[in-house]
Amino acid sequence: MDIYYYIKVIIHYGLKNNLIEEFDKIFIINQLLKLFELDEWIEPNHLSFDIPDSPQTILDSLCDYAVKMNLIEDSQGMRDLFDTKIMGILTPLPSIVINKFYDICNIANKKEATKWYYNFSQKTNYIRTERINKNVYWTVDTDYSSLEITINLSKPEKDPKDIEREKNAIQKSYPKCLLCYENVGYSGRVDHPSRENHRVIPVDISSDKNEDWFIQYSPYIYYNEHIIVFSIKHSPMKIDIDTFDRITRFVEIYPHYFLGSNADLPIVGGSILNHNHYQGGNHLFPMAKAKIEKQIVFKNYENIEAGILKWPMSVIRLKSPDRKKLISLANKILLSWRTHSDKSLDILAFSDDLPHNTITPIARKTESGFELDLVLRNNRTTEKFPLGIFHPHDEVHNIKKENIGLIEVMGLAVLPGRLKEELEILESYMVVENWKEKIIENKKVSKHLNWAEEIINSNNNITEENIHDILKSEVGKTILKVLTYAGVYKRDKNGKNGFLKFIDSINEI
Ligand SMILES: [Zn+2]
Repeated sequence: MDIYYYIKVIIHYGLKNNLIEEFDKIFIINQLLKLFELDEWIEPNHLSFDIPDSPQTILDSLCDYAVKMNLIEDSQGMRDLFDTKIMGILTPLPSIVINKFYDICNIANKKEATKWYYNFSQKTNYIRTERINKNVYWTVDTDYSSLEITINLSKPEKDPKDIEREKNAIQKSYPKCLLCYENVGYSGRVDHPSRENHRVIPVDISSDKNEDWFIQYSPYIYYNEHIIVFSIKHSPMKIDIDTFDRITRFVEIYPHYFLGSNADLPIVGGSILNHNHYQGGNHLFPMAKAKIEKQIVFKNYENIEAGILKWPMSVIRLKSPDRKKLISLANKILLSWRTHSDKSLDILAFSDDLPHNTITPIARKTESGFELDLVLRNNRTTEKFPLGIFHPHDEVHNIKKENIGLIEVMGLAVLPGRLKEELEILESYMVVENWKEKIIENKKVSKHLNWAEEIINSNNNITEENIHDILKSEVGKTILKVLTYAGVYKRDKNGKNGFLKFIDSINEI
């Protein structure tokens, strides 16, 4: 097959998926010729074209040609930058995408509009579905509900050549971060992904008319329709009454989505703290299914149904059809928590002037009204726990040592790609006589020694047939421990009493 054939296939792919129209055809062909440094079009004489669901196979062939002709160097990073350029040529301008979205809102409804936009984001290859399908996913039953686990294989390991290039690249601050609006259409660099095929939609969720907010999908979608809502302003994450206002407004407009925010302090926040944003989607998380185990009544808010959730982390759930009243109570709880200390439980609100307490909030819309989960967080570190007291402790670091952000809080653990291979190696070692030596000798898995030993000691019938399932279930048990470490009030008597003491303190105000 020659280059003209693949250009023709990608043109047909664009037509079939309504990215381009018949009148755009020659125009787009000419744009692609320019990209490939060709100055004439030779019609391929194939009678039919196989149009794949995902553009990736065609893009790979187009990249092979670009490598062969020395248009790009052969590395994953360079191929990613180049194939996004191709898709950028096929992606309509931002205003066309926004108008289309709101047309569907008017003709059909908002749910249909998000469905269209989600599909569009996959067809433009902004969401690289081919890679995401490689992710591994399973659930593990626990006392709370089934926890969900995914091993993220969609971010490929970096090519050493790209790492070298990145190291030598001159640091730039445009766009300021991965969430900034300026990413729309940006061609990328070795140290910043290309976003020529990236389009965002404005949403009306802010009471401040000077601050626009937009939606986009996460390019790594960890769950169904994983959406990101971000501010036009590159300003730090901040949890306050405006957060509660915006996330509840959002679920009122898009009731088929939940929306939550990472906390606004390091350790207990997400990976991006410098740009205010929220994450939501169309997925019922384990925490959403958890039940209230202790009803509580808040003074002056007696009509709001409230309670402590049966969950390994410390969560207050509020339910009410009255949005204004709900966010007012949420704010009262937040302000109380910001200054609440309980020395006997290691919860200190401040170290000198440095604040430690914050909240991870999640909003949902149900038939009976709004639901708001407030997860209490504290990010204090000590000499004994330099990564955080309420953070995964050493004994679980072989599985998870990163921040416990919004997604983990809700019961979906996102684990690094390296774990897939490590678990496979452990599977093969743990069924042989000299398993211990084998684990110690292999640097890739030696960190799992204590974990493997505990599993072998507590399961007396490990076989080649069941080891795979045993390890999956043990990862789940470890994730439950991870969440328990992140909980400020432990699930024992002291912890439960401490939680109630905090509730009482709010009612005393
Ligand atoms: Zn930014």
